[in-house]
Amino acid sequence: MKNFNLAIDGPAGAGKSTIAKKIAKQLGFIYVDTGAMYRAMALYFLRNKIEASQVDRIEEACKNVNVTIEYKEGEQLVMLNGENVNGFIRTEEVGNMASASSVNRTVRLKLVELQQELAKKENVVMDGRDIGTYVLPNADLKIYLTASSKERARRRWAELKEKGIDADIDSIEKDIIERDHRDMTREFAPLKQAEDAIYLDTSDMPIEVVVETIINLIQK
Ligand code: C5P
Repeated sequence: MKNFNLAIDGPAGAGKSTIAKKIAKQLGFIYVDTGAMYRAMALYFLRNKIEASQVDRIEEACKNVNVTIEYKEGEQLVMLNGENVNGFIRTEEVGNMASASSVNRTVRLKLVELQQELAKKENVVMDGRDIGTYVLPNADLKIYLTASSKERARRRWAELKEKGIDADIDSIEKDIIERDHRDMTREFAPLKQAEDAIYLDTSDMPIEVVVETIINLIQK
């Protein structure tokens, strides 16, 4: 049987990775977090003091960056030139750099190739911004997951609070709106709902209900 590809797209903080991970676990699929790949590239740019606006330097640097992923006990490890960088890519600084540098076509093409290769070989749940529209246009099921910016900011704030980090909910929402705008208006492979994607607004949906809804759609 052909392998199954599930594409989940949507804006920052919509719950994509939490939901994708649960679905992958329940169905024994591989979870591919494409945002983590853009974050690993961003970490390389930050470490080498390359700014997102320095297009020539970004493109030159792409030749020296090797991002791959490995799996250890079911967890995705992002390798940057052979180093496991999972512990360094979840900061706001890296997230902002990923958002700014992912508008670059060379950066995107480099990572898209890796994403497509993975989906060819395995049953995958892949989440990102352009999976259903660009990376896997023939995915077996496409979901566009979203929630209001207020609710997304509240979730992010609660996540930070749990880690003991005090943050201002209004500035988180402002940041989310800015990222959405950048992702949705970039020229190459912007974030948008694929025509054949199913739209799910999770603002008032518990995670388990979203997971069950998507699994039911897969089983159909
Ligand atoms: O999802 P996450 O917040 O980890 O993604 C980091 C950034 O990478 C996003 O803000 C987005 O700009 C970019 N990204 C992308 N395309 C993807 C996944 C992430 O442009 N498929």
